[in-house]
Amino acid sequence: MSLVHDLLQNNRQWAAALKLEAPDFFLKLSKQQKPLFFWIGCCDSRVPANQIIGLMPGEVFVHRNIANIVNSADINCMSALQYAVDVLQVRHVILCGHFGCGGVQAAVHGEGHGIIDYWIWDIKAILTRHEAMLAQAPAERLVDLMCEINVIEQTYELCRTKVIREAWQRGQPVRVHGWIYGIHDGLLQEVIPEVDRTVDVETVYQAALTAVTQKYTGG
Ligand SMILES: [Zn+2]
Repeated sequence: MSLVHDLLQNNRQWAAALKLEAPDFFLKLSKQQKPLFFWIGCCDSRVPANQIIGLMPGEVFVHRNIANIVNSADINCMSALQYAVDVLQVRHVILCGHFGCGGVQAAVHGEGHGIIDYWIWDIKAILTRHEAMLAQAPAERLVDLMCEINVIEQTYELCRTKVIREAWQRGQPVRVHGWIYGIHDGLLQEVIPEVDRTVDVETVYQAALTAVTQKYTGG
């Protein structure tokens, strides 16, 4: 039996088990989706959005890319964000990075991988921006520190997108969060406290950078 055949079998069993618990589950979902959450995370196979936050199909709208990068020029990410905020009217947008991120690691160590080198250009730019602070961190913690800084920077970018700014301008109660996930322990941590339209993004961003600097460099 092939591995892919196993997947199809798994699917039949999963759907049957769910239908046994809630006979109209799929019928209800087929009529509409009303998720309260939008998740922007990394492609890493160890960080599956639904499982780690304990949500069922229909409960979280998801966009994933390598190293959870938010760039206003990325039409894929911006389309998902706009649909989530403007159409689905999600209440929370969660930017979630993770420790040991391969994309961040490639940028830190300058490893060449081909096309991905262009994708992680944003992370290389973040590295340059925080060069002085990164130089103070112990070498063995550099990737972890950069993973956290990446969450802060991408969350900041997210708050500055047209979609989020316009949602806040029209009074939409959407909140933005910056989290990091530990592959080693399965736990999420808040890197940036909840940001909504009443909060000064710049202040939150600077405070998060200061906190992470203290955590890794003690200064
Ligand atoms: Zn990753």
